[in-house]
Amino acid sequence: MADASIFDQYPLDQWKDPDHRIMDRFSLKGRKGFVTGGAGGLGRNVAAAWAEAGADVAIVDLPRTRETLEPLAKELSERYGVNVVPLYCDVSDREQVDALKTSLVEALGTVDVAFINAGVNVPGDDADEPYEVWQKTIDINLTGAYLTAQIAQRIMREHGHGGSLVFTSSLSAHNANFIAGGPSPVAAYGASKAGIYEYARYLAAALAPYGIRSNAISPGYVWSGIFEGRIVPEAHDMMTAPLPMRRFGTNEEIASAVLFLASDASSYVTGTNLQVDGGYSVY
Ligand code: NAD
Repeated sequence: MADASIFDQYPLDQWKDPDHRIMDRFSLKGRKGFVTGGAGGLGRNVAAAWAEAGADVAIVDLPRTRETLEPLAKELSERYGVNVVPLYCDVSDREQVDALKTSLVEALGTVDVAFINAGVNVPGDDADEPYEVWQKTIDINLTGAYLTAQIAQRIMREHGHGGSLVFTSSLSAHNANFIAGGPSPVAAYGASKAGIYEYARYLAAALAPYGIRSNAISPGYVWSGIFEGRIVPEAHDMMTAPLPMRRFGTNEEIASAVLFLASDASSYVTGTNLQVDGGYSVY
């Protein structure tokens, strides 16, 4: 039976404490985290943001990214004075993800924050897509998100502390990406990203008793590196025409949203999807 002390948890004016700084809420000092798809545009910028905010970070990606990941880990460690380590894992492979759990605990001690972000958009992902395109997309994007979120939340619970899971969903989870009169090829991709969003919401409900929050971001068009050298200025204008801000987002604009969701700045936010899309979803 609750007594009146239950109300003590709701301070009205924390700013009145002379030592209180609201910007401290964005700090990840002393926290441990991992980022999947860590060699990619979004992943490496979130790793940099978390390292700058004070966290030790494992950047996780496929072995073929070794030439990117090794120097990146060294540069982030030196620049921010934290421990940044590269770890290699195919997120769609159950055994590799189980091994990742062990490697994360060995390298970092525990996990407080996880950016579940590795993903692919396989060519041919349209209404007539072959089974292989569908299966590969679901395996990496959706099953990979499940497997890596599982090890994150298990570590948090086994170590008896809370944490924050942030999933990369997509604009394509919510619509068909209108370009030049029709949908872009995101059939399985959109389905996988919608699945991620709902999975993040389920975990928010199930894991709240353990102090674990779970949220998703839905990026719109982000100039992450994947479009570099691939589209001409006319295509840029055509792609951005349907969105109010008429431009791509940047990796940094994603990183700051993910820092918010990972940190105590969002301590009362769980089960949400944050659209980071220049307003695309408004229409
Ligand atoms: P990116 O291609 O630069 O990064 C994706 C990373 O995931 C790569 O480093 C890749 O090696 C890694 N990866 C792929 N398959 C993997 C696997 N099986 N196991 C482990 N790692 C694997 O792309 P990005 O733009 O940084 O995208 C990151 C995430 O954001 C993806 O999930 C993507 O679907 C999503 N997203 C991107 C945009 C955008 O406009 N860039 C928009 C919405 C959502």
